[in-house]
Amino acid sequence: MATDFQIAVRSVVSRNPATGETLREIACTPEREIREAVARARAAQPAWSDMGVRRRGAILKNFQRLLLERKRSVAELISREAGKPYAEALTTEIVVVLDSARFYIESSLALLRDKRLPHGSLAMKAKSGRILRQPYGVIGIISPWNYPFSIPATEGLCALAAGNAVVVKPSEFTSLAALELADLLHAAGVPSDVFQVLPGDGATGAALLNCEIDKLIFTGSVATGKRIGEAAAAKLLPVVLELGGKDPMLVLEDADIEVASSGGVWGAFVNAGQTCLSVERCYVHRKIFDRFLEACVQKTKQLRLGNGLDAATDIGPMIHERQLRIVEQHVEQAQALGARVLTGGKRLSELGPNFYAPTVLSDVTHEMVVMREETFGPVLPIMAFDTEEEAIQLANDSEFGLSASVWTKDRRHGEAVARRLAAGIVQVNDAVSCFGISEAPHGGIKASGIGRTHGRFGLDEMVRIKYVASDLLPGMKKIWWYRYGTEFTNKIEGVLDLQFATSIGKRLRGALRSVGGLLGKQL
Ligand code: NAD
Repeated sequence: MATDFQIAVRSVVSRNPATGETLREIACTPEREIREAVARARAAQPAWSDMGVRRRGAILKNFQRLLLERKRSVAELISREAGKPYAEALTTEIVVVLDSARFYIESSLALLRDKRLPHGSLAMKAKSGRILRQPYGVIGIISPWNYPFSIPATEGLCALAAGNAVVVKPSEFTSLAALELADLLHAAGVPSDVFQVLPGDGATGAALLNCEIDKLIFTGSVATGKRIGEAAAAKLLPVVLELGGKDPMLVLEDADIEVASSGGVWGAFVNAGQTCLSVERCYVHRKIFDRFLEACVQKTKQLRLGNGLDAATDIGPMIHERQLRIVEQHVEQAQALGARVLTGGKRLSELGPNFYAPTVLSDVTHEMVVMREETFGPVLPIMAFDTEEEAIQLANDSEFGLSASVWTKDRRHGEAVARRLAAGIVQVNDAVSCFGISEAPHGGIKASGIGRTHGRFGLDEMVRIKYVASDLLPGMKKIWWYRYGTEFTNKIEGVLDLQFATSIGKRLRGALRSVGGLLGKQL
């Protein structure tokens, strides 16, 4: 029967954050369609897995070739939808994904192959064991807007290489970049049910979590990550959580001020500071503090803000008004507590709706939210320290632990400091860039998340580890089988002495007792 009312359909809107122009409005994927998509992924996955690593690798190679060919149009789309400079769309999205494909094409065969597992248990000497890495089945990916192509792509390639089907729920702000990724993968030969993108909002993500997926790879904020962790715990769904950060930069007394200030300015402002690995707080040895601060201020003043598609743009807009308000609040609260704004500190409405001037703050303390909570915007707060102990303690005084950087001319010393920093990733004399090293594990500790993506550790997150042990003496009953009694304990004690006793005499006696046992009469 026809009804005269319509059920409201939620939708997501992709906008150019530099201009506010609507790029496309897309209906959120309804719950029923999410369930159907997951069911189709499950049905298609065995054939994808059975295809084998080599043939999947050939398809990933096609994808790599297509992406290289279409790099301009894809980078332009990313720049238009996420606001970032075209140069960054190339370096932090296209280059990262091409290299990630290279890694899985080159390494999956060796990393996924069955591996013999030698063991040292004397009693089990007749067992030969192997480790199998088997795909989970259907991997759900929920991704954020700040790297709208490289995050779902690197995680998706990893899951596909391992033989999984993938269902992606991209950010509500950047559906187009994810849909473009799906197009490229399908054109390369990945079956359409093996890689699916389901546009939608947070509720769409929550609905995906409720479906029969086998694992979820989530990248986003700590608040959402905790909600997802709770929902996943209730159904014992394994998850990887790649969450926020408050990454410290430590500039030691012997650092090259010219290099470190350039690195700090880039690390804080790349992608308008909307990078999980951004330099969010900077600690500088007091002896070089003034010179470092001055260099950062001068370099920040030279940065050119504008539309990401303009070749002469260093910094684009922030993603939306809500994110910009967080930045304003952090800077305002810091100022109220005594921080000085050395440059920036204001929105630039004359450029477009979401522009905020890159900002350098001094006279900051750990009482300020700008030193404690993720700002996720173009703000570089800089604080002096007197001793390295103090710097390490300040760096570790955070609920987050994603990445950190140490700047020094003494590499060994930098690496020694790196050991003491509470973070999943530490770079010496650079920041942020290790996201582009496809072999390097990506992920944090503390509130920054659980598990790893990228590299061999990321690949291990996409497989179930299975141990298969075969008995090499199948015609022999085992000494630990029934029946128990003094003869049984005698045998076991013999084996224990044979393997663990410290005197040779005891070990020999143990050998005799256990050999006797081997010939004993089990049930
Ligand atoms: P967000 O948490 O708001 O959203 C992330 C994704 O989760 C989106 O797709 C969103 O629609 C979805 N979502 C929201 N509520 C949900 C729910 N209840 N159930 C399921 N899905 C839900 O994060 P954001 O603003 O898109 O991204 C910025 C954050 O991501 C920052 O904190 C940043 O540090 C973090 N991030 C971390 C990494 C990393 O690798 N550690 C990388 C990039 C971004």
